Amino acid sequence: MPVKYHFECVDCHLEYPGDKVVYLCPVCEALNKPGQPPRGVLKTVYPYERIKALAPPGLLFDMLERDHFLPLLPIGGMNSWPWLHIGETPLYQGNKWTGGRVNPGTDGSSEGQKGGMVEVGSENDDFELFFKDDSQNPTFSFKDRASALVSAWARENGISTLVAASTGNAGSSLAGICASQGQRAMIVVPAAAPLAKLTQILMYGAVLVPVKGTYDDAFELSVQISKKYGFYNRNTAYNPLTIEGKKTVSFELFSQLNHQVPDRIFIPVGDGVIYSGVCKGFEDLLKLGIISRMPVLVAVQAEGSSNLINNLRSKKFVARPSRTIADSISVDVPRCFHLTAACMNEYHGESVLVSDQEILNASLKLSRATGLFAEPAAVAACAGMLKYRGQGLIPAGSKNVVLLTGSGLKDLSAVQSSIQIPNPMEPDLDSVETYIKKHFSI
Ligand SMILES: [Zn+2]
Repeated sequence: MPVKYHFECVDCHLEYPGDKVVYLCPVCEALNKPGQPPRGVLKTVYPYERIKALAPPGLLFDMLERDHFLPLLPIGGMNSWPWLHIGETPLYQGNKWTGGRVNPGTDGSSEGQKGGMVEVGSENDDFELFFKDDSQNPTFSFKDRASALVSAWARENGISTLVAASTGNAGSSLAGICASQGQRAMIVVPAAAPLAKLTQILMYGAVLVPVKGTYDDAFELSVQISKKYGFYNRNTAYNPLTIEGKKTVSFELFSQLNHQVPDRIFIPVGDGVIYSGVCKGFEDLLKLGIISRMPVLVAVQAEGSSNLINNLRSKKFVARPSRTIADSISVDVPRCFHLTAACMNEYHGESVLVSDQEILNASLKLSRATGLFAEPAAVAACAGMLKYRGQGLIPAGSKNVVLLTGSGLKDLSAVQSSIQIPNPMEPDLDSVETYIKKHFSI
């Protein structure tokens, strides 16, 4: 297949061919220092003028969509793509739900104790609200978009063993996708990763390496493994294809919104790769003349893990140890810091911090008002939207998307403080009658 793309360093702008394994720009990587966000992340560049010529302007997006967006992806065809259903996840209109009636005493939480309706969006809102539910991917997280592309590229290039460092989701994702493709996977995780994610990795047959350390320790070890044994590394941002896989959500959003650009997208941020991926997707459409403006991308971080937002305007990056219930976005040194900062700068990105308590509150609200149960990192995006909404920062008439990046079943322990599983009751009507009356106001 003729190579239809190349890589460009986002820092020094050196170009690299697309037909070889390449991670960070070697020139910039040599200058990187421990504890600092890496320089040398590579951006994938396509021959936009040639792609534009493939169809008349008004028909170009439909043509690309029919072709699985292959002209904008670094693979030759769909034969290498996993047979699992990747992406094409539902986009729900949130304003329809004001539901989730909660009666007193149903749980141990402060939310909903007074009864009444739980809202995340309301028919009274003067803006439109959508939830993009990426927990519907095969391994129940957004990360499948990146894993699928990395795995497909590996297949096309005769690579059979892949390695990744992960807080849990990227690892369980790569393990699952590799299982579906007949590839071997080695996953390096902090030993404290949630049980569900560790279980997934082992069930999919990957080699699990839990390390006594943080995600950042796992990241460094996986790079060393990759360099010594030649395993293809899927680490987020380190492998430029992770950004390309994640950008596909932007194409879907544009399609699902009937060829309209949303005004705001609330994105949970750890390393910043999902943010950069969403930005790259819309940027591709901008370069092709399919859209004429970019959405405002809102980076949402947990207060306890806010190294990206806190360093956006500082001269020297200072990493504080992360501590948050949102494990998927708990990152000390964001690997995609410089590209995310550049995206925010160029396209007027915004940012908001949310506390763990705000995440827990949003988690209950979202589940009860919509039937969507998302993991804490994903709910952080919803908490960010609720904060904007509370402060009147969402303009009337605007279209707003909350990106839900992972299933709540991924981390059940995180929400246990918000609920209370009732004590066992005798299985007779007399025993449960008081309980029923209390909950249903009979
Ligand atoms: Zn460079």
